[in-house]
Amino acid sequence: MIWNEKMETMAAQDLKNIQSDRLKSIVKYVYDNCPAYTKKIDNHGIKPADINTIDDIKKLPFTIKEDLRDSYPFGLFSQPIKQLKEIHVSSGTTGNPTVVGYTKDDLKLWSEVMARAIACAGGVPGDMIQIAYGYGLFTGGLGFHYGALEMGLTIIPCSSGQTKRQLKIMTDLKPRILACTPSYSLYMAEEAREMGLNPRASSWEIGIFGAEPWSEAMRKEIEATWDMEATDVFGMSEIIGPGVAQECLQKNGMHIFSDVFYPEVIDLQTGKEARPGESGELVITTLTKQGIPLLRYKTRDIVSITYEKCACGRTSPRISKIKGRTDDMIIVRGINVFPSQIEHVLLSIEGTQPHYQLVVDRKTGELDELEVMVEVDEKIFSDEVKKLRALEEKIRDEIESVLGVMVKVRLVEPKTIPRSEGKAKRVVDKRTL
Ligand code: AMP
Ligand code: ZN
Repeated sequence: MIWNEKMETMAAQDLKNIQSDRLKSIVKYVYDNCPAYTKKIDNHGIKPADINTIDDIKKLPFTIKEDLRDSYPFGLFSQPIKQLKEIHVSSGTTGNPTVVGYTKDDLKLWSEVMARAIACAGGVPGDMIQIAYGYGLFTGGLGFHYGALEMGLTIIPCSSGQTKRQLKIMTDLKPRILACTPSYSLYMAEEAREMGLNPRASSWEIGIFGAEPWSEAMRKEIEATWDMEATDVFGMSEIIGPGVAQECLQKNGMHIFSDVFYPEVIDLQTGKEARPGESGELVITTLTKQGIPLLRYKTRDIVSITYEKCACGRTSPRISKIKGRTDDMIIVRGINVFPSQIEHVLLSIEGTQPHYQLVVDRKTGELDELEVMVEVDEKIFSDEVKKLRALEEKIRDEIESVLGVMVKVRLVEPKTIPRSEGKAKRVVDKRTL
């Protein structure tokens, strides 16, 4: 089903008109209510009156993560703190964390877009959903919770962790939908097998997986493991949390709810708009958010976009799976490497497990070294050394031909690489540059 027929299937020109009206209002709103934005817009040499249609968005300055960090905690808010009904804090790896807040209307917006997302994945009112994203300061758990409430689902608010208990709950209560990170779903499958359960016999028919990058190959793996439809959900705390974009069952890109989150894709080299189908950095403007609206926020996520109509009937643009981030891209000997490229290779090779970690190091005076640690099947690990070496070489050759950079491959026993109940840690950078 389509949750909001009107907004999700609107003709292109009608959508543009709504976006134009909303952009005009939000620019005036932040200019009048947020001193940091007043200054930013003034410094850019424009006035809110210069913004009349959605195409004028290009006249606006970008907002970057550092703007949020520099104005920590509340400097980019457009509402007094007491108007905020909920606050989330996402831990940054460096510097200050990012604080975001929701007014009552923002919480309604969040419920609305998450209801759209769950419906887009195939959920219908009356379904039972197991929410195994973390509840708390991370936006995943509560975002799904609000959307499921809005839709009229039966919610099992498991949060992440306590994996054996999750599996017992699934077996006994038989929820139809699972929501968690893709890596956690595979970790759950390992535990299930250990408990003597057959993952393919599970009650889950639909998975809504996101919060971390995962490849097409990983989708196949998850779908085969659990015998379910695995769909991709995208979002980030700064914009709203989960609910920015969601794949429908066509699985041909994530519908971005562009009547409220206006997307642009910016070419990394030229800084200009990338053409549809070409990769670039996703930039989002929140068109209706009140607590902390952001203009042209540079997400650091790399995607491509298409405006073609989807067979599901939705007319919203679709973004590709996240191809990487401008900041988790590692540069090894001058070559850009995204963990997703390596994941893709690993999952196409028989005998490897979808658990891997990249370790980059540079010994004094030497070149960067990229080591790919990858788990192999139990059976292969107990094979002769000769076979292991052959597999190692095969993986190395394929990665080197994709990346164009030399790598070391280390095969490790099953369960060597730390598991995560939330976002998986794929890169360990030991270089002190
Ligand atoms: P957070 O604000 O902690 O929820 O983190 C948001 C970031 O998680 C995004 O900017 C993306 O880099 C990543 N992310 C979220 N959803 C996805 C997804 N479906 N695929 C890939 N990366 C994702
Ligand atoms: Zn669709």
